[in-house]
Order: sequence, then structure tokens, then C-alpha cells
Amino acid sequence: MTSCPECGAIAEIVDRHVLQSTDGPIEHARVRCVDRHSFFMPTAGLERTQPAVAGDRRAGRPATR
Ligand SMILES: [Zn+2]
Repeated sequence: MTSCPECGAIAEIVDRHVLQSTDGPIEHARVRCVDRHSFFMPTAGLERTQPAVAGDRRAGRPATR
């Protein structure tokens, strides 16, 4: 369990993937909150339940149409 980066509600990790990056593999998690927001983000960002102040918003949303 973690919290939604958008609304701060309780969110659950529904899936995990390891993505390759230039710095090596990074574990990402798909997170869905009780308000049905869905995020796909590095699990490192989930360690803290506070939303990140700035920076990597690129991976904040799934690239679905
Ligand atoms: Zn939410």
C-alpha cells in the first residue's frame, strides 16, 4: 500500500515491472488509488508516501491512448 501522488488517497500497487534505463534496471510499479487514478512510476518514488516536489514527472502516467 502507498498513497496516490495526485490526490493522496490510499493506493495499491497492482503490478511491478523492471525497466532498463541508462543507469541500469529500475523497478517500476503500477499504482491505482481508490479514486481510480493510475500511475506507473519508479518504486523508489513510492518509498516515501509524500509526492515528489519536482523532477521526474515523465514516468508519472502510463503512455496509453
Ligand atoms: Zn488518486
